[in-house]
Amino acid sequence: MTPKKSILITSEQIKKRVEELGEEISNMFRQEKISDVIVLWLAEGAIFFAADLIRHIECENLQIRSLKASSYGKELFSQGDPKITGDESGFEGKHVLLVDDIFDTGRTAEAICQRLLRIGAQSISTCFLLNKKVEKTTSITPDFIGFDIEDAYVFGYGLDAAEAMRNLPDIWKFEK
Ligand code: 5GP
Repeated sequence: MTPKKSILITSEQIKKRVEELGEEISNMFRQEKISDVIVLWLAEGAIFFAADLIRHIECENLQIRSLKASSYGKELFSQGDPKITGDESGFEGKHVLLVDDIFDTGRTAEAICQRLLRIGAQSISTCFLLNKKVEKTTSITPDFIGFDIEDAYVFGYGLDAAEAMRNLPDIWKFEK
């Protein structure tokens, strides 16, 4: 039986919030006098969020990098420790803004932050489009959150449902 689905956040709501987030992040960089930043977005889920957000961030010298993080695979539940792959060179001494789609258990963010600190990042701030109301397994607190959402499986706007449906402009959820 196909699970029932419905729109959780519309593309208009996303657009408005992403613009606000860009402003909040730009203000933080201004206040902390940071003009040299690497925005590190996590593939694949954050593809549209990062692309939209970055265009609203004001920063003199902004570089864009990505790493691939996978924990769900083709399943609709977490597959344990996240796998992180990609080029980890060039982060030494840099201010990094980590951009990801969902802060769920927090395991992925924790693994990436630990990795960034090990390879010498000077500072790390984090921005997630969605924060799922679930028990967190990490002490990491996100710096910027787009929307707090209930504990449901969501997809669209870059997020997958078994690797499909990333192209939907709105964010959908499967009904429980
Ligand atoms: P965490 O490590 O915080 O538990 O999980 C983070 C990653 O799991 C997210 O970046 C995302 O890729 C994936 N994830 C968590 N919840 C969902 C969801 O509801 N839908 C989709 N498509 N991916 C999710």
